[in-house]
Amino acid sequence: MRFNTRLIHAAQPVDPSTGAVNAPIYLSSTFRQRAPNRNQGWVYGRSGNPTRAVLEGALASLEGGRTGLAFASGLGALATLLEEFPSASRIVSIDDLYGGTRRLFEHHRAQFGVRIDYVDMRDLAAVRSALEAPADLVYIETPTNPLLKIVDLRAVVRLGHRAGARVAVDNTFATPALQRPIEFGADIVLHSTTKYLGGHSDIIGGALVLAARKDGERFAWLQNAVGAVPSPFDCFLVLRGLHTLGIRMRAHGESARAVAEVLDGHPKVARVHFPGLASHPQHALAHRQMAGYGGMVSVELAGGRRAALKFLGRLKVFTLAESLGGVESLVDHPASMTHASIPRAAREAIGISDGLVRLSCGIEDPADLAEDVRVALSGA
Ligand SMILES: *Cc1c(COP(=O)(O)O)cnc(C)c1O
Repeated sequence: MRFNTRLIHAAQPVDPSTGAVNAPIYLSSTFRQRAPNRNQGWVYGRSGNPTRAVLEGALASLEGGRTGLAFASGLGALATLLEEFPSASRIVSIDDLYGGTRRLFEHHRAQFGVRIDYVDMRDLAAVRSALEAPADLVYIETPTNPLLKIVDLRAVVRLGHRAGARVAVDNTFATPALQRPIEFGADIVLHSTTKYLGGHSDIIGGALVLAARKDGERFAWLQNAVGAVPSPFDCFLVLRGLHTLGIRMRAHGESARAVAEVLDGHPKVARVHFPGLASHPQHALAHRQMAGYGGMVSVELAGGRRAALKFLGRLKVFTLAESLGGVESLVDHPASMTHASIPRAAREAIGISDGLVRLSCGIEDPADLAEDVRVALSGA
């Protein structure tokens, strides 16, 4: 089956007991045992739940992995992943990261002595040099949050494996509709399902997808041992989101392009970051490894912080809020909101200035979004 059919049918059989076409929500924390350890495959809701299992099977299929695991949040998934990398492990991570990911990495450095090196992974020579020493985990985001840098997945996966590391990719921005890291050799895919997979800004959730059976077993054990699992109701909502992921990502992409074209070359704009623009330095790479450019655009206003705040204040369709990937358009000021936990010097070193604004382009009419941005810019 092709991808858009798999979104709706992969690992999502009609419920055998009733014929329900949607996975029923099994709100039961525990399951009867006929005799001690004689059960129907379900024991306790943290260890496994039938609604969650349908979601996990669907996620594994969509990412092309062996095992899918659902979590209570993206950071819950990351915290569980990091359980596998104890003190003295070495992580080589991309430098432009979701703020909360970096905060948790730094916590593991301070608390457990995990070694972490941040590298601009657009520069393969820098990646090669960082991976001359052995590493345990290579951690990639592409496109990155908020600067929409693109990492050459095939090249970095190869370098990571040569250094003895497992390679994890946060695929939250692209989603499997646009990019499937396991097809490029990645071992682990991480998601904040809060974003595009859920797609409606109504749940917090996360996921890991593991390519190898052994990793699947290990992380399923950790999922149960750590316990950061989602509710069956939230699993149902992510499944419902998956059904429309294909058409939503197409619509998000059209919106982002309309917005990026207003920003590109505008006199009040210093720089636009959108991998779909021919002027994006890695447009060709994005074209090669993705099936679309996604719904995120970030823009650096020429007037710095003052202009950014004015612009934010004048937008009418875009709502000022953290998060992204929902049907409604959202706007964020990374330096004071999503990325405020990164010290200013580190923030500026990677290019997150006070004039930077991140736009999550929703699936409203692209003409309304373009108009909103045009009008807000005129007063910025
Ligand atoms: C939001 C986000 C996360 C964290 O996920 P939560 O569901 O908020 O815990 C991780 N990575 C990226 C790229 C994100 O956008």
